Amino acid sequence: MAVPFRRTSTTKKNKRRTHFKLEVPGMVACPNCGEMKLAHRVCKECGTYKGKEVVSK
Ligand SMILES: [Zn+2]
Repeated sequence: MAVPFRRTSTTKKNKRRTHFKLEVPGMVACPNCGEMKLAHRVCKECGTYKGKEVVSK
């Protein structure tokens, strides 16, 4: 089995891990109520999408 010729430097390791993220992306603030919501989805707090109410409570 192949063995790494050089150990991976801390910089190289850290640069590889810049794509490691905790939170789920695609969250935007709702323009109607300001609540955080998933982009391109109806807001679950006020039920609006593109400024119109599409889901009634
Ligand atoms: Zn909203």
